[in-house]
Amino acid sequence: MSQSILGFDVGGSKISAVLGDESGNILANVRRPTIKHLGKKRLVEQLVEMGHEVMKAAGKDRIDSIGILFAGLVDRDKGVVLSSPNILGLNNFNITGEIGSRFNVPVYLENDATGATIAERIFGAGKDMDNFVYMTLSTGIGGGAFINGKLYRGSHGLAGEIGHMVIMSNGPTCGCGRRGCLEAIAGGKGIARRVSENISAVRDSQLFSAMKPQEIDAHAVFDAKRHGDMFAQLIIEETVYYLAVGIVNVINILDPEAIIIGGGIARAGNDLFRPLRAAVKEEMRSMYRPVKILKALDNGSDLAAIAVPIYRDQ
Ligand SMILES: [Zn+2]
Repeated sequence: MSQSILGFDVGGSKISAVLGDESGNILANVRRPTIKHLGKKRLVEQLVEMGHEVMKAAGKDRIDSIGILFAGLVDRDKGVVLSSPNILGLNNFNITGEIGSRFNVPVYLENDATGATIAERIFGAGKDMDNFVYMTLSTGIGGGAFINGKLYRGSHGLAGEIGHMVIMSNGPTCGCGRRGCLEAIAGGKGIARRVSENISAVRDSQLFSAMKPQEIDAHAVFDAKRHGDMFAQLIIEETVYYLAVGIVNVINILDPEAIIIGGGIARAGNDLFRPLRAAVKEEMRSMYRPVKILKALDNGSDLAAIAVPIYRDQ
């Protein structure tokens, strides 16, 4: 009989609950916006409510396990959220204990990028690969790696912070405090900043000059490029170059079979992947090897929470 797995994703902009099984079928899901001042108690109440909602929608009155993804620093062994950049007051919060006592099943916690990496291994392009790197391109840049068939966690559980690799010394300041991190340049926020910073180019662009500053994001840049905007084209070429530099650094260190790319910016599809594949190939120079640059699962964020308990059981 198939297992019923309840998954929660507590992200920076939304909180979602999904009900799925070990084959990756999603039977029901529900989303709510993240509220910064929600606090521990109301977060737990909200998750419990959303959990029962998806169970009801999927016609399940019992579940076997729960996976929780959290956008922030977590201690997976203790099941504790260590720090939470999006929701205030959740530091050192035993989220698995609270949720476990309400549903009476095992609860497993992971950082969201780690969960997405596990989802690629269980359900996605990394299924038959012992060595691959997952990268998420969205507001920020994160990731994870499977090495020799196992998730590589590092000695403090902090491995895979691809976005905080410096690719431009003395570049723009990053949220981590360093300068010129890949995330600060080629993450969603970094892309928007590079557009807005060039005031004369924004003024000369028909599309960008008509936008409010807060409307300019990575999605708008790819959209403008599709409409033939030269400035957007330039910003994307620059972004692709910096991503390629970062990716080739990773390739040179880990020699993976593939780099699997997900996150909101990956939805640009071939507008991103085609030039990125060419740029990575060129940037490898004499260290060339055939590394695949692949698109991550489309519903990776739903599957990630489901994949976490499955990987723990293996
Ligand atoms: Zn950084």
